[in-house]
Amino acid sequence: NSCLTQAKDTNHLNAYITLTEDEGNKQAKQSLERYQKKEATSKLDGIPIAIKDNFCTANIKTTCASKMLENFVPTYNATVYEKLLNAGAVLVGKTNLDQFAMGSGTIDSIYDSTKNAWGYTEDDYYIAGGSSGGSAVAVATGSCFAALGSDTGGSTRNPASYCGVVGLKPTYGLVSRLGLIPLVNSMDVPGILTRTVDDCVLILNTIAGHDPKDSTTLTKPYKEILLPSSGKLSVKGLKIGIPKEYHCKNLDKEVLDTWNDVAKLLDENGAVVKEISMVNTEHSIVCYSILNQCEVASNMARYDGIEFGLRADENSSTEKLYATSRSHGFNEVVRNRILTGNYFLLTKNYEKYFNQALKVRRLISNDFYKAWEDVQVLLTPTTLSTAPKYKDFVKKTNRDQCAMQDFCTQPANMAGVPAISIPIKLSKKGLPISLQIMGRNLSEPMILALAKYIENIV
Ligand code: GLN
Repeated sequence: NSCLTQAKDTNHLNAYITLTEDEGNKQAKQSLERYQKKEATSKLDGIPIAIKDNFCTANIKTTCASKMLENFVPTYNATVYEKLLNAGAVLVGKTNLDQFAMGSGTIDSIYDSTKNAWGYTEDDYYIAGGSSGGSAVAVATGSCFAALGSDTGGSTRNPASYCGVVGLKPTYGLVSRLGLIPLVNSMDVPGILTRTVDDCVLILNTIAGHDPKDSTTLTKPYKEILLPSSGKLSVKGLKIGIPKEYHCKNLDKEVLDTWNDVAKLLDENGAVVKEISMVNTEHSIVCYSILNQCEVASNMARYDGIEFGLRADENSSTEKLYATSRSHGFNEVVRNRILTGNYFLLTKNYEKYFNQALKVRRLISNDFYKAWEDVQVLLTPTTLSTAPKYKDFVKKTNRDQCAMQDFCTQPANMAGVPAISIPIKLSKKGLPISLQIMGRNLSEPMILALAKYIENIV
């Protein structure tokens, strides 16, 4: 009840698209009964959670913050939600996002933008980051204890960084995508937002593992992660890499200083911190954009106005029905990506753009494999700065550069490796500054342990 009250009291931040009060009350009541009979199903039993509105929830609207799916009510649950329900979690609501998870601000939603709780005033606010901005604000304001986001190029870590919460993008294939409405199938992963690293582990342990209904999930049985208690954690001898190419040109001075300070602190505490090189990092944004748009063009073809989603009132021809439904159902960002994606995929362009981008993606992945010969984890910034003000972020020139916000986060999606964003301190303006840790595939136990260590010393 107090989470629900908090969700309502922070309504002005627009973190939720739908509050699932009836559903949540029913689940909470059942949980209470299990508790009274000492039959709790897990540590998550009765814990309020929120879910980004691009995960299917049976009988609960799932909109992707779009006109196209404004009235879409799925008939089944995403595997991750099903697993959380089986563990006894209680759904507070479905959270806001950029339309179809395309964006880094949670400003492109038909339900209006989500506002960052930090530094909020009635006439001015900072963006929450995105595209899982609603989930990050829900966790930051305490209207739930954990929220699911999705992460294709940084959508979990970017808002986690701006909102001062923990944000994990697991190894690709570790967590099922069934019921996560796809953006880029080869990069999408469900992400986890929580206030502490321990909470994040609890959620990961609940949702990870092979799903027979998602052929891209790993078949290797998932081994539950048990982190040592704070006092028993150590970084003695841990080899930490600082990739020099992440010192990119728009990196804010305060973020850079924080990065240096934490690296120094870890070094003083016994870690072996060294600079390494990942030469293809600079190509990541362009390469990601091409692959993203190509997969988007193909994925979005399903919204034809016939099977599900918005159907325009147009009956002069089938082609006109498709075209009108799609032009009304998608915002400009989505339509642009469909157009450019189809352009890259034309027979005459396919080799030059799509195939070339696949090769560059391989080079970016190889940079990571090479790094693991030298170091065990990487420490980088998550975002280049603290959260920008909404009115600056939406200026045309800034919007065009919005992809730059993902400079540090996208490479992990190209390589499929796990990455976590953790809040470190507040900037002079009082906004959260966060850092990112990346590790080799399936090194979640290691990056989470390091994240918890850092959480304890900063
Ligand atoms: N900002 C990136 C994009 O718009 C990443 C989005 C995401 O991770 N869902 O594609």
